[in-house]
Amino acid sequence: MPLRRHALRAAAGLLALAACATPDVPPPDRILVNAVIWTGDSARPAATALAIRHDTILAVGTDEAIRALAGPTTHLEDLGGRRMVPGFHDAHWHLPTRRTADLTGAPSVDSLVARLQAFAATLPDSAWITGRGWTPDMFPANTATSAAIDAAFPDRPVLLTDRDGHQSLANQVALRLAGIDRNSVAPPGGAIDRARDGTPTGLLRETAAAPVRARVPAPSADEVYAALTDAMARAARDGLTALQLANGLDEAEEEAFARALTEGTLQTRFRIAVPFTPMPSDSALDAYTRRRDANRGPLVRYGIAKGMLDGTVDARSAFMLAPYAIGGGTGLPRWSMDTLVTTLARYDSAGIQVELHAIGDGAIRLALDAYEAVQRRNGAGDRRHRIEHLEVPDPADLPRFKALGVIASTQAVFATPDATALDNYVPLLGPERAARALPFKALDDAGAVQAFGSDYPVFPMSPILGMQMAVFRQLADGTPEGGWEPQHRISVEAALRHYTRDAAYAAFREREIGILAPGMLADLVVLSDDILDGTLATFTRARPVLTIMGGRDTWRDPALR
Ligand SMILES: [Zn+2]
Repeated sequence: MPLRRHALRAAAGLLALAACATPDVPPPDRILVNAVIWTGDSARPAATALAIRHDTILAVGTDEAIRALAGPTTHLEDLGGRRMVPGFHDAHWHLPTRRTADLTGAPSVDSLVARLQAFAATLPDSAWITGRGWTPDMFPANTATSAAIDAAFPDRPVLLTDRDGHQSLANQVALRLAGIDRNSVAPPGGAIDRARDGTPTGLLRETAAAPVRARVPAPSADEVYAALTDAMARAARDGLTALQLANGLDEAEEEAFARALTEGTLQTRFRIAVPFTPMPSDSALDAYTRRRDANRGPLVRYGIAKGMLDGTVDARSAFMLAPYAIGGGTGLPRWSMDTLVTTLARYDSAGIQVELHAIGDGAIRLALDAYEAVQRRNGAGDRRHRIEHLEVPDPADLPRFKALGVIASTQAVFATPDATALDNYVPLLGPERAARALPFKALDDAGAVQAFGSDYPVFPMSPILGMQMAVFRQLADGTPEGGWEPQHRISVEAALRHYTRDAAYAAFREREIGILAPGMLADLVVLSDDILDGTLATFTRARPVLTIMGGRDTWRDPALR
């Protein structure tokens, strides 16, 4: 069925191309000429011009052929020989909805406290102070404790989430409000760090932070709508035309999306997840499938459930087959095989795609084993279940992605070789496992469908930055020389495919978006510099100058006119 629809769309495109000279077929609304187009379409990999009517690509071809389609009302734009690629598509993204202090990159705990003080000054006197983006290397001995924050905020609650969102640092006021003291027992899947005398140090891993988080007042529907609008504007500036939200929505978030849809203010296409929870009831599954079936429009889709199998390497909560090289332990698996398989089978039978966060080699194997067991139970089909992040797969498991049709949803930007990666992540894994972390090339070689995303706001959402890490595994200054574990680097074209067509495939949308071809939705981005020249300098300079989603501009650099 999808194949036939695609063929029809393509045929309609060709027909329009042939028939445009006749008066009863309307000409394109706009044509873009004098570009260097990487279409992503194997039938026509390169072109210089493109015609759009409404939200759809009418034709792709040479300047001469496309110019010939213009009617009296067609708007023509000359792109000055710039590079055009399909609109970027982030397969794993989150919407931050709370005003919160940005702690990313703080060079020390003192500067972290200074940022919090500046942020706190913008809030009412007794309000909760929240922040995100800290990393262990900001603290003495790579160990986060609340000491400095308690000194600065002795009578106001503070809750700070780490960069990956898996560890939280609460000050003593916040711990007290949440009832966490020396006698508290951590919930399953969580850990409370303690001093020698048993007093909590403020560091709460995974689910242990839930009681504190529950105390922080939720943002209002208006605040969430403003956050959504702001995030979409940033996404458009980064060349993104589609985002896959890797979590379910709360009520205020649902309201914000519904409002944006009715007001026509959506700047990006969205696919929104629902929760993947143990043994869902029939009525919960019914609600999910109803929501999927009720949202078939071009802008907002459902149809996927997001679950978590483990934590992160930096928090030592990723579930590993062998102990961490520092501190020991094999992490915090959140599911047993039995419950996972039974739960997966229920979602799978309901026709809901599943995406499972699995970072350690133990969690990745658990996910693959569970998908395999469900395939045996329910039969094979076009399910496209996914594993999210899969940072440290065991090499023996790589061929299983293709064999089982499981999508590798990876984040190229995780390969940023910064202090956190080199001074915390690598030592925790030890040299053998660090050398096989984030293996983008090996996944491609194993024939896996690899969809790129950013995990924003964990990392910046810029796909150009993400591709830089996939292609070079180097910071903008060219360090480390030759790239971090350079055996995992991939080509620019492979990185582009993962950020366009493969991300679309991971959302069942490859017949509509992801390549520039007649009949596809008109989602594209024009770049200031040609990243296909393959140099690091170009990547660090390049930025989107024009982003078009569904035929209309969502970002235009003022310098482009
Ligand atoms: Zn995520």
